[in-house]
Amino acid sequence: MIEVKDLTKRFGATTAVKDLTFTVRPGHVTGFLGPNGAGKSTTLRTILGLSAPSGGSVTVAGRAFGDRRRGLRHVGALLDAGDVHGGRSAAAHLAVLARGNRIPRGRVDEVLAEVGLAGAAGRRRVAGFSLGMRQRLGIATALLGDPPVLLFDEPLNGLDPEGVLWVRGLFRRLAAEGRTVLVSSHLMSEMEHTADELVVIGRGELVAAESLARFAARG
Ligand code: ADP
Ligand code: ADP
Repeated sequence: MIEVKDLTKRFGATTAVKDLTFTVRPGHVTGFLGPNGAGKSTTLRTILGLSAPSGGSVTVAGRAFGDRRRGLRHVGALLDAGDVHGGRSAAAHLAVLARGNRIPRGRVDEVLAEVGLAGAAGRRRVAGFSLGMRQRLGIATALLGDPPVLLFDEPLNGLDPEGVLWVRGLFRRLAAEGRTVLVSSHLMSEMEHTADELVVIGRGELVAAESLARFAARG
């Protein structure tokens, strides 16, 4: 469960997120929908503990946080697909994260297989990866710690059609396992076959928080 309450985040004179309140429940795939610049990434980084709120609070699984990073075993995330040391292989990247988070080394091969980067692909330098492969590696990073809460920032970007179908199935399975799954997108069409709940924001403020069916039925 994620509880965002009156969250405000400012960057100098820019207010990226303003008095944002919503709840993300376990057992669902919740879409986090809003146009570019709406404040989705900022909110996700705050939930993850990478960025401190200017006001309000964020609680994940009952635990509030100050300005500390959450461990990969509590919250996993796909953030910016570009945010990986390109000189390393996917396997080496994950091994470093596993070590830092006290996750068994064997988990690296498991998640690489799960995202379709088993074998040679996982041993190649990330610098040579396509965007789709980077997305898969980011998803592997999110899964690494087997966390109850997972955040995915624009995960469908760069995936081929087959990859999109695969990742939707993955999200549904994670939700069916009782996890909390929050997936951001700037496209309603992407969410239609991905999420069952929606949190919609615009200009840093809440527009709607309801089931996708109810939102889609608005006229
Ligand atoms: P989204 O993910 O919905 O595209 P962001 O959260 O990235 O939106 O951005 C929301 C707003 O906050 C934008 O106006 C963006 O320019 C601004 N912003 C985000 N991060 C920073 C930062 N580190 N410094 C200054 N402004 C930022
Ligand atoms: P460092 O502190 O040396 O930057 P970390 O091992 O803490 O390295 O983080 C490495 C990478 O993992 C960074 O790109 C960071 O943004 C990302 N990261 C940190 N915590 C998480 C998390 N809970 N889920 C997903 N990615 C994370």
